[in-house]
Amino acid sequence: MSPTMSLLPTEPLQIVEPFSGRNDLRPNLVGLSREELKTALAEAGLEPFRARQVWQWIYWHGVTDFALMTNIARKTRERLAELFVVARPEIVTEQRSVDGTRKWLLRFGDGNEAETVNIPEEDRGSVCVSSQVGCTLTCSFCHTGTQPLVRNLAPAEIVGQFMVARDSYGEWPTPTETTRMLSNIVMMGMGEPLYNFDNVATALRIVMDEQGIALSRRRITLSTSGVVPMIAKVGEVLDVNLAVSLHAVNDQVRDTLVPVNRKWPIAELLAACAAYPGARNSRRITFEYAMLKGINDSDADARELVRLLAPIHAKVNLIPFNPWPGAPYECSSNNRIHRFAEIVNAGGLSAPVRTPRGRDILAACGQLKSASLRGRRERVGGLESKAAV
Ligand code: SAH
Ligand code: SF4
Repeated sequence: MSPTMSLLPTEPLQIVEPFSGRNDLRPNLVGLSREELKTALAEAGLEPFRARQVWQWIYWHGVTDFALMTNIARKTRERLAELFVVARPEIVTEQRSVDGTRKWLLRFGDGNEAETVNIPEEDRGSVCVSSQVGCTLTCSFCHTGTQPLVRNLAPAEIVGQFMVARDSYGEWPTPTETTRMLSNIVMMGMGEPLYNFDNVATALRIVMDEQGIALSRRRITLSTSGVVPMIAKVGEVLDVNLAVSLHAVNDQVRDTLVPVNRKWPIAELLAACAAYPGARNSRRITFEYAMLKGINDSDADARELVRLLAPIHAKVNLIPFNPWPGAPYECSSNNRIHRFAEIVNAGGLSAPVRTPRGRDILAACGQLKSASLRGRRERVGGLESKAAV
């Protein structure tokens, strides 16, 4: 490691421990792994098979009131309610875009906030879930990276985001895979999921459990800015779809856009991707590429992208840059984006241009935390202090 490396803002600098999600002293049963739930209930004197019943009430039926858990004796339900809660994050606002996108600003027990978005499409809906409040990384085109306050979200806060979305659509009990509106999860909200891997993994294992939310791993995509040493672990532990924020085809440019690249440069990143389990045609790795005018959008860049990704079963998501106040970039023109896509397509890679969704409610990529910051400022009467966030 070079002497400058230790100065890079790539470590979780300001992380404080996640809060359980509420001020109530009773522990929240949401977010516990199956084993942890069994232990918690055993300590309360319940038989082991009760854990299965409670799990199904929480994650299959979406119940938050113990009184509704009717296959459990009334006395036991009362005891459960004395000891525990089944809690969701608090909804501060719910906004609906003209294009059907819904965004929730959620508040956790310590007052911190994060945003969750649902992007409905014809045959599915992708819920974009946050893994951290803010982000310790400082990608120069992402507004989330400019936020001062960062903490990891707890498993309850991560799985709770999806449960809030399901509440909003009335999607309980768990529908069949083909009929559900909220059919996919993308870990593409605020934060770097691989800097909060244990909590993200616990939350996603809960989401994938067949006796609960029952979302198949094929319906889950985890996006990373390129935390190389964790990529193999994602494959081992979760084996979900992988998306990688590439955004540039050489280290010089990527160093400025995605500074974590100085630690783990493109060649190392692509080697980790090539080794990702199941990176076969049916389950290609998605490479995200924000189109930035004059920075990464030339014909030569497109050709180099094709060359770099040739050894990997890959597809490319071209994301028109979503501007934010003070952003040092502009979005490439439509013509440029389509020309770039043509070259990548001609090189044998699928490269859809991702239509920005929910821009009217600031729900598009890279716009998330900025909205909650602004919203909070308005709610506290225009207070500009960052400490108030
Ligand atoms: N931290 C993870 C997860 C966030 S995913 C990651 O970086 O992969 C959000 C995606 O939107 C990432 O690919 C990110 O690079 C991209 N993005 C961030 N700001 C953007 C902006 N202003 N316009 C377009 N895409 C942006
Ligand atoms: Fe963090 Fe991802 Fe934004 Fe980079 S693009 S600052 S890793 S949220």
